[in-house]
Amino acid sequence: MRKSWWKECVFYQIYPRSFKDSNGDGIGDLNGITEKLDYLKWLGVGAVWLNPVYDSPNDDMGYDIRNYEKIMDEFGNNPYRDYYIWRPGRNGKEPNNWASFFTPSAWKYDAATDEWYLHLFSEKQPDLNWENQKVRNEVFAMMNRWFDKGIDGFRMDVINLIAKKPGLPDSDKKPNAQGYVMADDCFANQPKVHDYLKEMRKTCFDGRDCMCVGETPFVTKQIAMDYVDPKNHELDMLFQFDLMDIDSGESGKWEVVPWKIADFKAIITGWQEALKDGWNSLYWSNHDQPRPVSRFGSCASEIYRVRSAKMLAALMYLLKGTPFIYQGEEIGMTNMPFSDISELRDIESINFYKLSEKGGDPKCAWESILIKGRDNSRTPMQWDSSENGGFTTGKPWIRINPNYRNINVRNAMEDDQSILHFYRSLIALRNSHDALIYGDYTEILHEHPRIFAYVRTYSAERWLVFANMSGENAFLDSSDFFENGKVVLSNMDEIQDLLLFQPYEVRVIRA
Ligand code: CA
Repeated sequence: MRKSWWKECVFYQIYPRSFKDSNGDGIGDLNGITEKLDYLKWLGVGAVWLNPVYDSPNDDMGYDIRNYEKIMDEFGNNPYRDYYIWRPGRNGKEPNNWASFFTPSAWKYDAATDEWYLHLFSEKQPDLNWENQKVRNEVFAMMNRWFDKGIDGFRMDVINLIAKKPGLPDSDKKPNAQGYVMADDCFANQPKVHDYLKEMRKTCFDGRDCMCVGETPFVTKQIAMDYVDPKNHELDMLFQFDLMDIDSGESGKWEVVPWKIADFKAIITGWQEALKDGWNSLYWSNHDQPRPVSRFGSCASEIYRVRSAKMLAALMYLLKGTPFIYQGEEIGMTNMPFSDISELRDIESINFYKLSEKGGDPKCAWESILIKGRDNSRTPMQWDSSENGGFTTGKPWIRINPNYRNINVRNAMEDDQSILHFYRSLIALRNSHDALIYGDYTEILHEHPRIFAYVRTYSAERWLVFANMSGENAFLDSSDFFENGKVVLSNMDEIQDLLLFQPYEVRVIRA
C-alpha cells in the first residue's frame, strides 16, 4: 500500500455560505474561513475541502458556476455554443425522455435558436460538452491555474456523469410520475468518462503530489474500483452513496424508510473489502445530506445526542479510508426544525414541495423534507450563544437552528466531555497510529443485531472498535476478542461490565 498525505490526514468540509460571515451581509465568506483556521488546526484536521466559491447566480447555491472562464456570460453565443449539449426537439418536444435531478425534464428549450440544451441538474447548470476538446482543454487549464495557486486537490462534483451515451437515446428505464426517466443508464459511468479522467490526470496531476476525489452516484463496487485503482490513473478516492441511500425507498430519497443495522454492516464491510486495493472515503454527511446525529444517532435526550454523536464518529473514522468531516458535525449539530416552506433555500427541496402541491401529498412531502432536505446541513455554523450563533452580525441567508444557544463551538470547547473534544481526541489518535490509517480491516460479530465491530491489524498491532448502534443495551457473549486489551477511547464515564454496552456506547480497544 503506497503511503500518501491524503490517506493520512483528516479532511474538513466547509460550506462557505454557512461557515462564517466576516462583513455582516449574512453570507459566509473567505475572510470568515480565514478567521477560523486556528480552530481547524486545533481540531487536528489536515486538509480543507471548500464547497464552490466561484462566481455564481446561486440557483443551486454555488454549484451553478458562472465564471471559471466567464462562460455563462456568453452562454448561447456562438463561440461557446459547442461547449454545451444542444439538440433539436422531437415533434416539438424534448429531444429524449431524460429526467433532471431538479426539474421534470433534463432539457430546456431556447426559442432564439429553436433547439434544446441538456441540464441534468438546474436549468442554470447546463451540462458541459466533454466531447469537445476545447472544453476539456479549458477545464484542465483552469484546474492547473488553481494548482499553481497552491491548492492540494480537487473534489469533483458528479464527475462520473460527464460522458453521455452516444446519440443521447431514450432510456428504457421506468418513467417517473411526470413521464420522464432518471436515465443513469445513459449518462453515468459511460466508457468515455474513463478517457476524460485519464486525460485530466495526465494534464493536471502528473508531477504534482495532489489528490482528487470524485463524487460518483450510481457506482457499483466494480465500477468504483475501476475509478480508484491506482493502476488506472484516474481518481484517488470517490464518494459513493450506498450508505446515504440506506433510508431511501424504491422511489428515491424522498421516500423515507427506517434503516437497519444489518444493512449498515453489509454496506460498510462490502466497501471496505471492495476497495482494499484502492482507498475509501469516509463520511457521515455533507452539504447534500441531513445531520448524522439526527439520522443515525439519537436526539431523544441531550445525553443520547452527545453519546451517539461520539459513537458515530469513532465507528466511521477508524475505518480504513480518509475521513471527511462536514462542518458542524464535530459539535453534533442537528437537523433543522424548519417551520415553513418559505424558510427553505434549497432548489431540490423547494421543487419537490411545489411538485407535491400539483397532485401529490404536500404534508408527506414536508415530512420528508424535514428528515432528508439538504438545508438541514446548510444552516449557519453555530460558533457561540450570541445572536445568530456568532455566524453573522447581519441577517443570515438561511435561518439558524434555534438550538445554537446550547449547541455551539464555544460551549463545546469549555466542556472537556463534549463531542468536540472527543473528535479532537479521535483525530489525534488516528493521526498518531499508522495501524488506524493503513491497517487491514476485518469485521467481527457480523451476526450481532446491535453491535457493529471490527478489527484493524497492522504487523503485530490490533485495534478493535465496538459500537452499539442501537438505543437498547447490547451484550457480548465473551470477552475473548479483547482479552488483555486496553480501552483507549470510549464515550462513557466508566465501564462497569465489559460485556455490556449501553445504548450508543462505543469502545476503541488496543489489544
Ligand atoms: Ca459575508
